[in-house]
Amino acid sequence: MKDSKIFKKNIIIYVLLIFIFLAYLAIFYFVLKKRSICIIKAICHIPCPSCGVSRAYVSLFKGDIKASFYYHPLFWLYPVLGFICIFRNLKYINPIFKSKIFWISVLLLLLGVYIYRLIYVFPNDIFF
Ligand SMILES: [Zn+2]
Repeated sequence: MKDSKIFKKNIIIYVLLIFIFLAYLAIFYFVLKKRSICIIKAICHIPCPSCGVSRAYVSLFKGDIKASFYYHPLFWLYPVLGFICIFRNLKYINPIFKSKIFWISVLLLLLGVYIYRLIYVFPNDIFF
């Protein structure tokens, strides 16, 4: 399939996922009043690696970029990873998707930020 056809097909999926995420953020903000719905945190009492992403995006949409990075410094990474996964069949994205170095780097970055946040941002949440 040509790249332009693949792009058109995948952009619909990507935009749809963005709308689903925006709907989730609206529910998170207006209905749940920014209370955590994280299953891992509810069960283990420890924040998961993506705890704070919703609050980061709510802050971003309110124009508070500093708060966004406070709630989760890698909030911007998730749509990038989603883009790479959805558009993996494109000629220019495929080498990134197949790169083990890229995914190991992403994993190490997420893990590093997670450990940093556990120690310095949520020190009281580790040992409830
Ligand atoms: Zn979580």
